Amino acid sequence: SVSAHRSEEVIQRYMEVVAGVPDEDCIICMDQLSNPSGYETPSTEEGGQSIQPDTVGKFIKCGHTLHMLCMLAMYNNGTKDGSLQCPSCKTIYGEKTGTQPKGKMEIYSIAQSLPGHPDCGTIQIIYSIPPGIQGPEHPNPGQPYTCRGFPRFCFLPDNDKGRKVLELLKVAWMRRLIFTVGTSSTTGEPDTVVWNGIHHKTEMMSNLSGHGYPDPNYLDNVLSELASQGVTEDCLKP
Ligand code: NAD
Ligand code: ZN
Ligand code: ZN
Repeated sequence: SVSAHRSEEVIQRYMEVVAGVPDEDCIICMDQLSNPSGYETPSTEEGGQSIQPDTVGKFIKCGHTLHMLCMLAMYNNGTKDGSLQCPSCKTIYGEKTGTQPKGKMEIYSIAQSLPGHPDCGTIQIIYSIPPGIQGPEHPNPGQPYTCRGFPRFCFLPDNDKGRKVLELLKVAWMRRLIFTVGTSSTTGEPDTVVWNGIHHKTEMMSNLSGHGYPDPNYLDNVLSELASQGVTEDCLKP
């Protein structure tokens, strides 16, 4: 659960303290790493070692360095889900989750083929999200959010690659990454449920919105959008 992670422990899980400070700038505060972070050390809770303003950390996989307190501040500003994303190269540590409100994802099979995929049938995904009240993870906690154009109907070719995308979309749904609450860039309406950067095809036989078929690059594009949220084939391994 979200509150189970103490922020400092999350930072210390994925960054190690650097002894010799490199002659570089911190990508968060833009100041030199040899100068201390402008953020303050959080008040000590029992146990654990506090991160100091002059502590420089290095990510364990990608190796990028920054002030650990700057990274802590960035973490505390986000969804605090126990995951970190390197601000330099976007490498994800742990399991990134989003702020998608409660709803349901249903899958159906349709015999008819999609334009551009004549050799197979179609997978239909139906997303239903009812209106509700924003939580602490949303832009205006306590205020309502609206849901326009739900249920939303989406389509994938029922071939090997399409079925792989479907399995990854199920992972993204569980991690609350498909939708978010924000301002719709199409309608300008604030406090509404919107897509969250993982593109879906919402037209089956037409392409009036540009979100239809044929689109020979679609499956590859959505695979890279999923990967940028940390959802890859590795998530499907037992
Ligand atoms: P948005 O306008 O904030 O845009 C977020 C992302 O969604 C963008 O990347 C955009 O390219 C993509 N997007 C925009 N319109 C899309 C569409 N029709 N199908 C698939 N992707 C689309 O996102 P939003 O406010 O969630 O959706 C945009 C609009 O599309 C809204 O007005 C919504 O009501 C409408 N919509 C309607 C239906 C429907 O079945 N009636 C289905 C999907 C979207
Ligand atoms: Zn910094
Ligand atoms: Zn990095």
